[in-house]
Amino acid sequence: MRRLTHLAVATLGVMPLAVDHAWPAASGIVLLGMAGAVVPDYLDLRSDLRGVLTHRGLSHSVLIAGLSIALVWVLLGALSRLDDPAWALDSGLIAPLTAAFAIGVVSHLILDACTPRGLRPLLPLSQWRLWLLPKPFRIGTGGRLDNMIGLAAFGGAVAVVVLSVASS
Ligand SMILES: [Zn+2]
Repeated sequence: MRRLTHLAVATLGVMPLAVDHAWPAASGIVLLGMAGAVVPDYLDLRSDLRGVLTHRGLSHSVLIAGLSIALVWVLLGALSRLDDPAWALDSGLIAPLTAAFAIGVVSHLILDACTPRGLRPLLPLSQWRLWLLPKPFRIGTGGRLDNMIGLAAFGGAVAVVVLSVASS
């Protein structure tokens, strides 16, 4: 899937969490969701690990998803314990921000599992490949359906924001 599709779907996915919060926290939730949505491909294609990782290999496994979510949770916990209250994160935001990141990562894996290539979520233990759709319905990266899903998710996210602003 294209990066924009991942970003749009994750943004829509975190909207139920975001609308429960005031705008600064809601923006953080959307940002963490978007960060989660790009982490698997970032590890493969941009980071210093790209020479080690093959595309949609270990970076798209349940193991790395779990580790990255745990790392975000630990970092947010550390931020909440900063001595300076002006910079310290409200500890009540650790759970929703971590959940937003997790939604981003999981939505990325679900979307990639809908492509012809699928993904191997049990690496490095198993090469088993997961496809969520039957062969004729798999969604090619950069194809028309990929773009339509991205646009629909973006439209949905904008609609949620407009509705929540209008009803507040
Ligand atoms: Zn990917």
